[in-house]
Amino acid sequence: MPRETKEALRARILEIARRLDQHYPGATTALRWSDPWELLVATILSAQCTDEKVNEVTGRLFRKYRGPAAYAKANLAAFEKDIHSTGFFRSKTKSVTGAARVLIERFGGEVPRTMDELTQLPGVARKTANVVLGTAFGIAEGIVVDTHVHRVSDRLALCRSGEKNPEKVERALMDLLPRDRWIPFAHALVWHGRRVCMARNPQCETCFLSDLCPRRGVTASKAKAKRPAARTRPSSRAEPDP
Ligand code: SF4
Repeated sequence: MPRETKEALRARILEIARRLDQHYPGATTALRWSDPWELLVATILSAQCTDEKVNEVTGRLFRKYRGPAAYAKANLAAFEKDIHSTGFFRSKTKSVTGAARVLIERFGGEVPRTMDELTQLPGVARKTANVVLGTAFGIAEGIVVDTHVHRVSDRLALCRSGEKNPEKVERALMDLLPRDRWIPFAHALVWHGRRVCMARNPQCETCFLSDLCPRRGVTASKAKAKRPAARTRPSSRAEPDP
């Protein structure tokens, strides 16, 4: 692909955003939640786990524990059992119960509304904070870059080719898109990554972005060759999918 000017890239991403809006109107997270704290818990649990499984677990969890105070004083062994099927249950238990304690000690039990404050919570780094700020509060402080947004942005050449650092991908997208597009763009790109531009079998033939995509026609074998690294244990700063 010939080198694209910044102006042309901006025009292309705006067209991509417009089509994404059209195809995934009102796109949002598939996680179920009823208040910001529940969204935070669900997002932490979604690391290396499907949204379906998280929803199954939180359906029970949110009835058993109500509000950060209940999580802060939860019995750790019982909590690990409650969330066991989401995987990495020990580190997730530390993150959720630790976040509940910090929320109570420093923020009066309320989920804060700034990136700086949210990232003080155990298990919460930039991506999780972006999910909560954007989805629960409608605050666009950044763009959620999960595995789908990262992969599809790379294929669409919206960031430096092969960029490994999600924060650099986020900065590139923030630089290209007007702020009022940040939240819906990420949600819609996640859905596009799940339904059309999958990691191993992208549906380029039927993709509505194919005329805007330098990687159109990427074959399943090529996609497999670029498969992500093997599962790794999330740290206490784990960054889950939204
Ligand atoms: S054309 Fe293919 S690689 Fe490009 S966005 Fe669509 S599915 Fe993904």
